[in-house]
Amino acid sequence: MTTPIYNFSPGPALLPPEVLQQAAAEMVNWHGSGMSVMEMSHRGKEFMSILESAQRDLRTLLNVPSNYKILFMQGGALAENAIIPMNLVGRVSPQPATIDFIHTGAWSGKSIKEAAKYAKVNVAASSEGQKFQTIPDRALWQLSKDAAYLHICSNETIDGLEYHFTPDVGDVPLVADMSSHILSRVIDVSRYGVIFAGAQKNIGPAGLTIVIVREDLIGHALPYCPSAFDWKIVADNDSMYNTPPTYAIYIAGLVFQWLLRQGGVAVMEQKNIAKAALLYDYLDSTNFYRNDVAKDCRSRMNAPFFLRDESLNDAFLAGAKEAGLVQLKGHKSVGGMRASIYNAMPIEGIEALLAYMRKFADKNA
Ligand code: PMP
Repeated sequence: MTTPIYNFSPGPALLPPEVLQQAAAEMVNWHGSGMSVMEMSHRGKEFMSILESAQRDLRTLLNVPSNYKILFMQGGALAENAIIPMNLVGRVSPQPATIDFIHTGAWSGKSIKEAAKYAKVNVAASSEGQKFQTIPDRALWQLSKDAAYLHICSNETIDGLEYHFTPDVGDVPLVADMSSHILSRVIDVSRYGVIFAGAQKNIGPAGLTIVIVREDLIGHALPYCPSAFDWKIVADNDSMYNTPPTYAIYIAGLVFQWLLRQGGVAVMEQKNIAKAALLYDYLDSTNFYRNDVAKDCRSRMNAPFFLRDESLNDAFLAGAKEAGLVQLKGHKSVGGMRASIYNAMPIEGIEALLAYMRKFADKNA
């Protein structure tokens, strides 16, 4: 029997094996059409049915209210850092508008930098002084009076922080970058103005960007906003203004069906809680490894950790690879290790990781 490979990549990340097998079986001839999904016109009835099912299933999974549009876009989450201000700052006066941000790590940091090209930026709270090991207490956020919106990154993929609460921000639209934890937990979409996510972690292949936006926030794009990024044009054309990333949408649709078969997001959340607890409980029980993030802000999806003796890092990674545990190297800006444990990571993957970590610690203690 071959050892299973467990892939801890932060993204593009592992997909459910069932989904990949189904995609392989349907690769050259989708449902008897004689065509691969890659070869189909995006306006043909076959692909239209794939797109409609994917949108419907995502709406069901996240219980998206009827006054929200689900847009399938391109450009990744980083393009949204520009697309969002181009669509939202025109709504408010006076101009130039102010955008509030909470700075909790690398990805919210990138969003702040980009938004500064389009508006005034107010960093209402930051944990930079705490090396991004915590999320600033809501009571200390210095929000502007007339902000166009408040932007948060609800799961910082690199630093390993996650919001375990939805901030109350009154009438100001709350915009959340959920790239690395969308569909991993139950959320109340009605508390957000905009939710966006690159697909390549919990959803499917890179190339697809999900935007869930409340309808009243659509239709305010600045004149220089590219048409393909104007949410009104995208929404009016059912995400078909330009050719959408058809194959990525197809795979995302298969992942949505897989999630529904698992019992939906609430079931995944319970599994994710159990998986993360297993990993963090071990990290907290040993002084051979450590995770520095404040306990109430630890991400269930991305767990950075460090070896006490960092000179063992290469040996740790080499041994892990031999044991079938791949892509554990931490982001270069943080160092150490990182285990990304998205929806598709089974608990057996965490158990295999912990068995290896224990063995490595015993051997090198
Ligand atoms: N935001 C977060 C939270 C991310 O994890 C990433 C990608 N790792 C991005 C934004 C950037 O996404 P993309 O590469 O799709 O632009």
